[in-house]
Amino acid sequence: MTARVLVGGLFVDCGDGFENKNGDRAGQITYRRAPRARYECLRCQTVEGPVSGAAAVKRFVATIRTIHVCRTGAQPLAA
Ligand SMILES: [Zn+2]
Repeated sequence: MTARVLVGGLFVDCGDGFENKNGDRAGQITYRRAPRARYECLRCQTVEGPVSGAAAVKRFVATIRTIHVCRTGAQPLAA
């Protein structure tokens, strides 16, 4: 039997925006409230972030669980 332990929480707010239907920016999103994300490590109580903006949130969500340097000395999680 494999035990599972919750080691962190990744919180993502997708923001509030709309897709531009016409013009030079067609297909892009205009945000009224930018996306945000933060990561809370339950092992060392560290909060990483928050980061803001679509590109920053995408990069943060993809990498934070593997690059968080845990103050308890625990190894980063496998991607
Ligand atoms: Zn940690």
